Amino acid sequence: MPPEASGPQLPASVASASHPPGFSGSRFFDVAIVGGGVIGCSVAYHAARRGASVALFEADRISSGASGAAAGMLNAQAESHEPGPMLDLMVESRRMHETFSERLREETGLDPEYVRAGTLRVATDEAFAEKLAGAYSWQKEEGLSVEWLDADEARDLEPGLSPETLAALYFPEEGQVNSPRLVKSLALAATKMGADIFEHAPVFGFLAENGRVAGVRAPGGDINAGSVVLAGGAASGRLAAELGVELPVSPVKGEILSVEARRAPISANVWDDACYLVAKRDGRIVVGATEEVGVYDRRPTLGGVARLSSAASKLIPEMAGCPFVSAWGGLRPGTPDGAPIIGHAEGWDNLLIATGHYRNGVLLAPVTGEAVSALALGEESAVDVSPFSHRRIMEAAGL
Ligand SMILES: Cc1cc2nc3c(=O)[nH]c(=O)nc-3n(C[C@H](O)[C@H](O)[C@H](O)COP(=O)(O)OP(=O)(O)OC[C@H]3O[C@@H](n4cnc5c(N)ncnc54)[C@H](O)[C@@H]3O)c2cc1C
Repeated sequence: MPPEASGPQLPASVASASHPPGFSGSRFFDVAIVGGGVIGCSVAYHAARRGASVALFEADRISSGASGAAAGMLNAQAESHEPGPMLDLMVESRRMHETFSERLREETGLDPEYVRAGTLRVATDEAFAEKLAGAYSWQKEEGLSVEWLDADEARDLEPGLSPETLAALYFPEEGQVNSPRLVKSLALAATKMGADIFEHAPVFGFLAENGRVAGVRAPGGDINAGSVVLAGGAASGRLAAELGVELPVSPVKGEILSVEARRAPISANVWDDACYLVAKRDGRIVVGATEEVGVYDRRPTLGGVARLSSAASKLIPEMAGCPFVSAWGGLRPGTPDGAPIIGHAEGWDNLLIATGHYRNGVLLAPVTGEAVSALALGEESAVDVSPFSHRRIMEAAGL
């Protein structure tokens, strides 16, 4: 059971009918968005804030893809391996999250539950401790906020940690949100500003000629649009192929589970080299996540649940006594270089790509929504997204 099934349901005012009234070839929107995950909904929200007319098409329900499966960690530093544009983008988006949730809560009454309690990366063997030491030194050199903790200091911070803990890295500025709630809140805020969000409305084709997309084909009829944004997550490559656009995005399956904890045994996101644990406001601890490239079946497996359960109990022994709640899976949109694709499709005037966010789509949603909405409306993006261009992917593939 995916987590959103037990979470807040999208208010009826957002969930438009699958055959919206007035849905005909004569309807025009400034921006049409394909995909109602955290990325598509963030683009819709930011475009609506810019005053644009917006239509978003979601094949299933809002947040039914990877975004509904995500643990919701905002790990700009803990996920980074080196300085560079990717780190900068993640840090910028993490900064945006600090006010994003509160603004959405005020606009919609639906709280995405932002928490800034840091992330603790834990080593229980020498090899991993050495890796963490390497990360500590380059991040210190970059002037980032990071603390090296010995075993006692780590257990002072998180008393539930296993006695096998050798050392840990603490990233105090990292945080987390409730991902399905964030998506729903974005969708609701967008509709409050006039966006049309259509659920159970799979886009099955495009209206296109001479390097311009005139609109999308969806149930109920064709829609014309000034710009079209592809935000279809792991399905984006298949969608782009409809236009003859090469988009090497493939699924990286992740399995994840949750248990109930009467008293959360952790406060930060706690993560060793085998699993991570995230304490949710509703009393669940989420344990994630496996990684399997190229698998399309997103259902959780016995093997995945067994591996995660055993890793979680090793990291925080108290986890072994927590009642199991549910397990689910999702398909992360992966790219060949692990970085997202944000910006114009190569060779197309008004086709925008917003996908390939792999492990960090929730973190990167604010910055992606801001940048892509600007580009879709012919404005400059305040954030430089040129390192994430479609062109760099094409060049790397020799295309
Ligand atoms: C187990 C797991 C844990 C994760 N944990 C984290 C985390 O802690 N922090 C973090 O930042 N990220 C995390 N991620 C990654 C994150 O979930 C993704 O990067 C992010 O959700 C991608 O968002 P998206 O909107 O691009 O894709 P999705 O959420 O997959 O949305 C794409 C949507 O497009 C729709 N669609 C597809 N085809 C069509 C069509 N033809 N017409 C209309 N709609 C269509 C799909 O139905 C889907 O709803 C995790 C992922 C997984 C699987």
